[in-house]
Amino acid sequence: MIRFHEVTARYPRATREALSGVSLSAAAGTLTAIVGPNGSGKSTLVRLLLRRMPRQAGRIEIASRPIETFDARDLARRVAVVPQRESAVFSLPVHEYVALGRYPHEGPWRAAMPRDVALVEQAMGDAGVADLAMRDILALSGGEWQRARIARALAQGGDALVLDEPTTFLDVGHEMAMFELFATLARSGRTVLVISHQLNLIARFAGVMVLLHEGRVAAAGPPHAVMQASTLERVYQWPLVVTRDPAVGAPTLVPLRGTRHSSGSLPLDGSEPRS
Ligand code: ADP
Repeated sequence: MIRFHEVTARYPRATREALSGVSLSAAAGTLTAIVGPNGSGKSTLVRLLLRRMPRQAGRIEIASRPIETFDARDLARRVAVVPQRESAVFSLPVHEYVALGRYPHEGPWRAAMPRDVALVEQAMGDAGVADLAMRDILALSGGEWQRARIARALAQGGDALVLDEPTTFLDVGHEMAMFELFATLARSGRTVLVISHQLNLIARFAGVMVLLHEGRVAAAGPPHAVMQASTLERVYQWPLVVTRDPAVGAPTLVPLRGTRHSSGSLPLDGSEPRS
């Protein structure tokens, strides 16, 4: 379980808080999703969880323990994180890169064991990069690199997986496979926290959605409660309708044609132009 309680954070010299009094939790066994417009504070939550920035107020807990009480290695054993941006720096075959995920479990007195090797193989299979095992990470496409990074996080193991926009570069087949995998991991008892702009996929797969807006929680709960047209129009500043997914009946957002006013206000008429 990952829990943020009344968390407030501000970047140095920023004029406003990136997060103000945000409370949310991601429970084991549930796929929890954080959604919200650009700049709403989603990645800041991940930075705070990784202790890459200080917070002004509030508590962050993993398994009911404040994150300050974990040493770096222990934190990495419990929570695997796939940040939004990360470039491949060194030339390395994919399988060796994925094996780096096991590093927090190894150390000077414990080299890689057969179990580590098996976990790396499984992670590569699950993330769809088994075929790329011998390829150099510097020579991967955007989508392949994304899947290699997810494989590394899967190899890391631990109770919790946090992914910041994990499917941005993926085609529809790989994206669906990834969401199916996240749902399976959650069902197996892991805590899975996904940040994504793919509201419609989130509505199909997530148990809980948290909608952030300007550093605050605008709505939270099961997808049908959060996917309300009035709330989403206000937060995304765009006219839209919420309908039902024809395949599974999940709430589905359909943005309407329109123009965004420079003030950021809603277009006057959200009706579709006739062509
Ligand atoms: P999101 O991930 O939802 O797009 P972020 O968490 O990255 O949003 O950003 C939240 C707010 O903090 C935004 O207003 C953004 O401009 C600001 N911000 C993000 N990173 C920095 C930074 N390094 N320095 C100053 N402000 C930042």
